[in-house]
Amino acid sequence: MSGKNWLLHTPRFPDNLSWSILELKNLFDKQGEHCEIIDINHKIYKKFFNTQHWENIDNFGVMIRSPIPVFKIIRLILRELRCVKNNHRVLINVFSTESRSWCELICSIIKMHIGCKIYIGGNGVYSPGEGEYESEWANYLLNLKLVDAVFLNQADVTLKQAIQNDFNVSGKIYRHSAEFPSLGFLPKHLVEDPIKDQRVYDSTYIREDIDHPAMQGELLDIEWAPKIHFSLGCVKQCTFCDIPILQNWITRPVDDVINEFRHYVTTTGRRYYFLGDSTINGSTSAWMRLLQGMYKLQQELGPIYWNSQIAVKPANRTSEEEFELMNKTNFHASPGMDHVSDKVLHHMRKKYTWEDVLYYIDMYAKHNVWIRDCLWLVGYPTETEDDFAEYTKLIDRLDNKKHTFVSNIVNVTYINRNSPLLELVDIDWNDPNRWTCDNSTPEVRLQRKRILDDEFARIGKLKYKHKDTYKRALR
Ligand code: SF4
Repeated sequence: MSGKNWLLHTPRFPDNLSWSILELKNLFDKQGEHCEIIDINHKIYKKFFNTQHWENIDNFGVMIRSPIPVFKIIRLILRELRCVKNNHRVLINVFSTESRSWCELICSIIKMHIGCKIYIGGNGVYSPGEGEYESEWANYLLNLKLVDAVFLNQADVTLKQAIQNDFNVSGKIYRHSAEFPSLGFLPKHLVEDPIKDQRVYDSTYIREDIDHPAMQGELLDIEWAPKIHFSLGCVKQCTFCDIPILQNWITRPVDDVINEFRHYVTTTGRRYYFLGDSTINGSTSAWMRLLQGMYKLQQELGPIYWNSQIAVKPANRTSEEEFELMNKTNFHASPGMDHVSDKVLHHMRKKYTWEDVLYYIDMYAKHNVWIRDCLWLVGYPTETEDDFAEYTKLIDRLDNKKHTFVSNIVNVTYINRNSPLLELVDIDWNDPNRWTCDNSTPEVRLQRKRILDDEFARIGKLKYKHKDTYKRALR
């Protein structure tokens, strides 16, 4: 292949090299093609974190009106791209729609100063519900000639083909299939964190002061651990969630998942893992097979600590054995329990009730399975004062009985495009966080978040410190 390939890790905070960038690098390496990663995100973090510019830089892309020190950023980017020539190729993974502003800025700089070809892909190139023909943002970039091709979906296949065809591609490259992407099994050298001792931590963000082994040492940083996939998308259709729209639900063969764990343990010796799935939700039998497989694997290779988001189900669809196996396989759960009011849970289209939530809390406690972080929502459009007041029963439960909660995260409800909640709210897409309805205003939502955060902080179970989460909630 002619020319060189550069994979840019563009800003998407925090200061982590994303696993998907490593997966893409592996794709090139397996084809024997040149590919180097340039971590612009880390360089921006290093230069601007804790400066007067940080707040705006952190907000750029989320609140587009944020002023940023553009000239300093241009200089930094050009310095990092000094080896890129106009016959090379730059690839950018757009992690989410919030990364788009960064992508546009970087593409403009590259096209103006270097003039090489640019290819983009990732979840951020299309909005929830968009397919090949509706992807407006991709059209906009292509029309402006800011990018040369956009990979939509299944880049494991389309990018591989593009590499084999010397990047003889342009426009939108779309592929949709029901097969699980053939990724993973990274070699040892890619699993080492290249910026391990240089990463910039926002110590105001994570509560390192939580007195629990999960918040110390390597476990505090489990988000950096190797990511293994078991399922993509979600089989449920919760009203507030865009995951089922973004990605069809699909589960990977359990043997493949176990083999990938085995691969990393035997090649890297690492013991901490993170399932990169949106949530584990769907087939109970596949989940049980995974737990059983992990048990066998750990009998053979010793302890493996693994963490994943996991959905709550009705109690009659779980078993004691499931929780026993979670404990025996060192599984740390990050469940989205979402609410305590049955009325709200019902409207969300959850199949479970507060009784089921209680069952989960009790079973996790009985089998000593850590609830590493648990997600709760406030300000759901139908949430009344009375519904919100029901959170008292959760706090009472955590105050008065044994439990295994390590920390909690309180999110305010966002309204997604295509959401069935749209018919309940007034929303201006230029400022979507300020949606209103009969029960809710931005002020009400933030006030409820503040109250619940304060309660979790009081009992020592709040994951993030206030300052940061309020800023994020306002976006
Ligand atoms: S179970 Fe979780 S991931 Fe699935 S649709 Fe509901 S909120 Fe989204």
